[in-house]
Formats: sequence, C-alpha cells, structure tokens
Amino acid sequence: MPTTHHPDVVIIGGGILGCAIARYLSQTPGLGIVVVERHGLGEQTTSHAAALLTRVRPHRVQTAMVMETFRAIDELKSNVGEPLPLKKVGSLQVSAKPDGRQQIEQTAQRAEEAGVLAERISANEAMRLAPWLEVTPDTSALWLPDDGYIDPYTLCQAYAAEARRNGARFLLKRTVSDLLQQGTKVTGVRLSNGQAISAGTVIDAAGPWSTTLAMRVGIHLGMAPVRSHYWISSPHPKISTHGPMTILPDSGAYARPEVGGLLFGLRDPQAVVAHPESLPDSLQGFRFDTDPTGDLALESGYEALRGQLAVLDELQLAHYVSNVSSYTPDGFALLGPMPGIEGFIAATGCSGGGIGMSAGIGRLVAELTTNQSPFVPPEPFRLDRFGVIDSYSPDFIRRCAEARARKRTG
Ligand SMILES: Cc1cc2nc3c(=O)[nH]c(=O)nc-3n(C[C@H](O)[C@H](O)[C@H](O)COP(=O)(O)OP(=O)(O)OC[C@H]3O[C@@H](n4cnc5c(N)ncnc54)[C@H](O)[C@@H]3O)c2cc1C
Repeated sequence: MPTTHHPDVVIIGGGILGCAIARYLSQTPGLGIVVVERHGLGEQTTSHAAALLTRVRPHRVQTAMVMETFRAIDELKSNVGEPLPLKKVGSLQVSAKPDGRQQIEQTAQRAEEAGVLAERISANEAMRLAPWLEVTPDTSALWLPDDGYIDPYTLCQAYAAEARRNGARFLLKRTVSDLLQQGTKVTGVRLSNGQAISAGTVIDAAGPWSTTLAMRVGIHLGMAPVRSHYWISSPHPKISTHGPMTILPDSGAYARPEVGGLLFGLRDPQAVVAHPESLPDSLQGFRFDTDPTGDLALESGYEALRGQLAVLDELQLAHYVSNVSSYTPDGFALLGPMPGIEGFIAATGCSGGGIGMSAGIGRLVAELTTNQSPFVPPEPFRLDRFGVIDSYSPDFIRRCAEARARKRTG
C-alpha cells in the first residue's frame, strides 16, 4: 500500500510540469503520488510566463502536445466549478520578409495537417484585427482564430487541484536535497530535513534546477538556463483587451494585450545565460548578470519592432519581466528515462513552451511512467539524443542559448 513515505512515484517540483504530470498520473487508480515543492505551487518560472498557447508548432509532435493542453483546459474546472479563464483571442502571424513568409506558409500547412483553423488574410485585415500593427500592403498574414492564452498560475493550480482530488499528495516548503540510489537504480529522494522518501520512480520536474539534481546520479541533462523576457505597457487606446496574440518573425518578437496595455517579448540579440549551479533557490526577482534590465535588448530590437508596431513610440512601459527558460539545443523538451539508469525520469527543458505543452508533457510522462503506450512518439524527447555532453560546459550552454536566439515562433 503506497504511503507518503513510500509512494509509487515522487515528483520533484510543483511547477506547471510537476502538477500536470501529477494530474495525469492520478488518473491511474491506486497509484501513490507525492509532489515535493520547495516553495508554493507554480511560483517559480511558471508564474513568469507570457503563456501564449499557439497550437501549431514547428513539429507535429509538439502540436499534438499543445492540443492536449487545450483539451485539458476544456476538462478542468476551477475550484468553484467555473471554466478556466482561457482568453481565446486567436493568433496572427505577419511577415514581409522571405524567412517569415516561409514560416507562415509552413504554419498554414501544418495547421491544415493538424485540422487547426487557419486563414490567410490581407495586411489590412491583419491591422483591423490588431490595430497596434502597422504593416506594408505586401505583408503576408495568417490568422488562427482558436489560439489563446491563459494565466499560467491558474492552469498550474487547476492541474494540482484535480491531482489532489484524485489522491496525490503535495509536500510544500520541502526541498529535495539528494536522490537515493542503489547501484544503477534511483530509489527515492532525501529531503533537506533528513527525511527519506522511497519510490519506484522519481520524476525530475524541477525546472531549471533539474540539471543539478540529475547530476547527483551522473546524468547530464542537455539544457541550460536561458533568459526569456517581455515588457508590459500602460493601457493605450489602440490596445483592445480582446485583441489577438501577434507573432512577428521579422523582428523576433511577439505581442498580446495585457489589461489594456501591450505585452511584448523580444528575442535576445546576444546569449543571456546562467550556469545551472549559479541559480538561487528562488527565481522571484532574479536577474541575469548580462543586461539585467533588458535595456540593451530593447534598444537593439527597437527599430525592427517599430517597423511592425508603430504604436511602440506611444507606449509607456510599465513593467519588465525577465526570468529563466530551460532551453535545449534543438528546442525539444527532455522527457523520459535515461538509458542505463532505472527509476529516474526527467520532465524538463521545455524551451519556452512549457505552458503551451504542459498537458501534453503531463500525459506523455505519465504514460512512460506507467508503461502505457505513449500518445505521441517519445523519441524526439530522448535524454541521450545529444550524445555525451557536459551540461556545465560553456560551449554546451552557448548551444542552448543559440536555440533561443533562433526561435521565431510564439
Ligand atoms: C519570461 C518568460 C516567458 C515565457 N513565456 C511562455 C509562453 O508564452 N508560453 C509557454 O508555453 N511557455 C512560456 N515560458 C516558459 C514556461 O514558463 C516554462 O516552460 C514552464 O513554466 C516550466 O515549468 P516547470 O514546471 O518546468 O518549471 P518551474 O515552474 O520553475 O517549476 C519547477 C519547480 O521545481 C521546484 N524545485 C526545484 N528544485 C527543487 C528541489 N530541490 N526540491 C523541491 N522543489 C524544487 C521549484 O521551486 C519550482 O517550483 C516563459 C518563460 C519565461 C521565463
């Protein structure tokens, strides 16, 4: 009989991934699940996300994962039985450059394959939908009306609430200080108060801290802590609360309304990374050493962004949000076991897409943990796909940052 001290599965981390995994695992009757979280649920990188939920992703496996998140949002209810506050405002991709147009064509094709509604629209129509845009008549635009965004903290709490109702236990304000190991098998975790929890499977869903935890059993996770950031302006008359999310590949940016103002994110022109071991225990208020205020990034991206977002000059910037995303060199998450090590599963490295793919990741990891056939092929997420690596080496960390710099999607 599983107990809190001897569950079947212990999940390290109560961010959106730990909670989503707990939700799906808790659908297996009788499975003992414990989530250990150092702070409160969803308080770390999860609560900083812009939470764009764009259905069509660069790879169809990722698209299937986001579709699972939309399905989960439909199924989940808040504690008072209300639907979750999904803002289904649609997304709009616009570009006047060859690379961006190609991206739009690919998105349109993938949307068709996946049965997602997508419509090529004129530049004028794009500006009507998103009055903060100013684009030339030859601009290509693609409209995906079913996309949206959601408060990531609320979604995380909704996963946790269902898991809790199904019997999962959450140990909050407890820190995993070590992984227990017998030979090549991980057998549980030790908490910083000395308590040991033995379990058949340990899932490392500790966000950017996953790397240092995995290192304790000799596993080098292929990811690094890279900066993601955005700005939020004060309310402006051109920004309607129900306006769409806009993806702007030509300026490496995205934008969406946020309480009457505009929230916009920009790709970093230079690699802004941290060493995994240098991360503090809490990322609330964390700033990277390079360009800590984001001013250099804003300055270098400003002209290109203004080319599509003429309203930029009129915006009064009210907030700057910067935090850590765990990027892998190829943009795919790290999900599943490490060959040669039993009892250990990683669920991390979601490369700026952990909210959008949360339910898909939760479902896949739960299926891998309970030996059910996976709903998507797990191969693209394999932990050993980069060969022998050193997660702490500056070269490898730079490879991860370059993946962030290349990202053109939402
Ligand atoms: C600025 C920004 C914008 C973003 N925008 C988007 C977006 O638009 N769309 C999207 O899909 N994604 C976005 N993301 C990415 C998204 O936030 C992440 O992919 C997601 O939150 C990762 O969730 P997680 O559960 O892995 O990590 P976290 O939320 O960080 O959770 C990990 C948890 O593990 C706990 N933990 C760590 N170590 C231990 C330990 N030893 N013992 C116990 N607990 C431990 C931590 O306290 C933490 O709560 C954005 C990220 C940032 C920073």
